[in-house]
Amino acid sequence: MSQYRDVLSDLHPRHQFHAHCHPCGRFFEVPVTALIERLGPDTPTTVAMQKITCAQCGGRASVNRGYPKEDGEGYFLRPNPLDKRP
Ligand SMILES: [Zn+2]
Repeated sequence: MSQYRDVLSDLHPRHQFHAHCHPCGRFFEVPVTALIERLGPDTPTTVAMQKITCAQCGGRASVNRGYPKEDGEGYFLRPNPLDKRP
């Protein structure tokens, strides 16, 4: 039995982060690869989510995590995707 750690390097390949900057109203996506590059693969996902800021105004963004739907429209947003680990 292996323990799943909620760190960046263990995220599902289809996992996505959707960020919303409240000060400027901007929506943007954050690639997992960019987070790993900046923070390292062992960074806990919840910590990484708190570090995401808006590139335009520098404000702290609120972040949802989720997976794209099979039909490509919209997203399943899961506060806790631990059960999705293959
Ligand atoms: Zn902003």
